[in-house]
Amino acid sequence: MEAQTKICQNCKVLFTIEPEDFNFYEKIKVPPPTFCPECRLTRRLTWRNEGILYKQKCGFCKKGIITNNSPFNKFSIYCHDCWYGDGWDAFKYGKNYDFSKDFFTQWKELMDITPNINLWGLNNINSEYANYTGYSKNIYLSNAVNCEDIYYSRLVDKSKNLVDCYYVSNSEFCYENFITRKVYNCSFLNNCSDCIDSFFLFDCRNCQNCFMCSSLRNKCFYIRNKKYSREDYLKELERFKLNSFKYLEKYKIEFESLIKNNIHKFANIVNSVNVSGDNIINSKNLKDCFMVEGENTKYSWRVFNGIKDSYDISGGLKNELVYESSLAADDGYFTKFFSHCKGNKNSDLIHLCVNCSNIFGCVSLKNKQYCILNKQYTKEEYEELVPKIIKHMNDMPYVDHIGRSYGYGEFFPSELSPFAYNETTAQEYFPLTKEEALKQGYKWKEREERNYNIDIKNEDIPDSINDVDESIINKVIECRNNPDALRGRSPDQNASGCTEAFKIIPQELQFYQRMNLPLPRLCPNCRHYQRLKQRNPLKLWHRQCMCDKDNHNHKGKCTVEFETSYAPERPEIVYCEQCYNQEIY
Ligand SMILES: [Zn+2]
Ligand SMILES: [Zn+2]
Ligand SMILES: [Zn+2]
Ligand SMILES: [Zn+2]
Ligand SMILES: [Zn+2]
Repeated sequence: MEAQTKICQNCKVLFTIEPEDFNFYEKIKVPPPTFCPECRLTRRLTWRNEGILYKQKCGFCKKGIITNNSPFNKFSIYCHDCWYGDGWDAFKYGKNYDFSKDFFTQWKELMDITPNINLWGLNNINSEYANYTGYSKNIYLSNAVNCEDIYYSRLVDKSKNLVDCYYVSNSEFCYENFITRKVYNCSFLNNCSDCIDSFFLFDCRNCQNCFMCSSLRNKCFYIRNKKYSREDYLKELERFKLNSFKYLEKYKIEFESLIKNNIHKFANIVNSVNVSGDNIINSKNLKDCFMVEGENTKYSWRVFNGIKDSYDISGGLKNELVYESSLAADDGYFTKFFSHCKGNKNSDLIHLCVNCSNIFGCVSLKNKQYCILNKQYTKEEYEELVPKIIKHMNDMPYVDHIGRSYGYGEFFPSELSPFAYNETTAQEYFPLTKEEALKQGYKWKEREERNYNIDIKNEDIPDSINDVDESIINKVIECRNNPDALRGRSPDQNASGCTEAFKIIPQELQFYQRMNLPLPRLCPNCRHYQRLKQRNPLKLWHRQCMCDKDNHNHKGKCTVEFETSYAPERPEIVYCEQCYNQEIY
């Protein structure tokens, strides 16, 4: 089959389906997509709410729980133990397929009555506020896999003792690190690996005791890219007063301009062949992938542990031959259009299902086979009925309220998601205003009235950690973006999900004291939103290397071209791998 250009049903932009894509779609038995890759990604992300949490009661055992589902949803929420337990039967909600109605309307009716799990977690200890977390201990307002003692952090793997980090792996004692690996006792690192005892580093590798440096390799005792003796370095560091918030604010501004003025490599790709995207490691044959470790995979985000032969996965671990998922935990195989699932085989259009095979259109099933809309069939009945439903889905597609049509081959429509657009990961990567979101057919969550009794005004938070003692714990501290603190200026507040006030928990205070760092001024959601501003979009542009150095092995301007997440209009200088490597120290 030849490459084909199509018009996206959603944004009306042209997109290309390559011959190898047709082979993939044929292999997994789905029709080619009608949404472009970016609109498909956004649609999947509207089904992921990582961090907007609510207090509710378990619909089964009635104990208090934390959940990412707002009380507006009709289904009941079960705590982890009740949802996984045998005390209830998801077949109770099952329905016969009704050929007089479209599939997605029937599926939504099933979702609205079937109990959901409060948060997505597996095998965690002491982590009731952790979402998207597995095999971990002491995780608080974070998502993490194989971790311990992680606070206010996202996308963390195999790490311990982190506060306010984003996309960090194999690290310990880190604060405000952003896209880093194998780092110990460091704060404010951006795009670094294998560093120890350092502060404010951008793209450094294997460095120790460095402060405010960029593009260093294998260095020790450097300040602002200048070598110091051990004694002088330690003396200077003392003078920097990193335990003072006022001083830190100045260094943050300095660091921001250091990053902006530094040269940038077109992408962060480690130990990989034939890949396009950003933050890719140990991979081969990837296209348009971000934060991925795998092979023969396209259009995916945040997948690791070796995904294989898959397209369109947003969040996941080891899977094979899977397509269009908003969370694919381990061991899925030949499964398509699924949200928050683990270990399912040969299944389609399922939500919150675990270790099932041959199920179609089901919600909250565990260890089942041959089911449609939560109803049990024999193998023969199942194999006869599924093709009829697929045909019916195309004869009578679901049409959403702004006219987009969903036959077989589409992920779940955003308007059926339990979440409003600004509760989801979609808002983090593709931010919209309320007006834009409503116009594009999404739901929107209005700001909640909170009216906290503030114990400590923002300007009264002590400047140095030395002036803080245990009495700070459980005090209600005003967020700097609180409308009162801002006196009417509040541009970021709705977008960031600002909670207006925050508390310091005991483990967190211990961490700041050990690391000698001041207390934060923003609530956790605002801090997360600040960090997100540092990252590039999940988008690629075809560009040419900007290097024109005459000491490189090119005459005049370098002609190397690449796919990069740096848009052409951005101020940063972007180099190809070879030119960049000639400029590091
Ligand atoms: Zn589109
Ligand atoms: Zn319960
Ligand atoms: Zn806030
Ligand atoms: Zn170049
Ligand atoms: Zn060059």
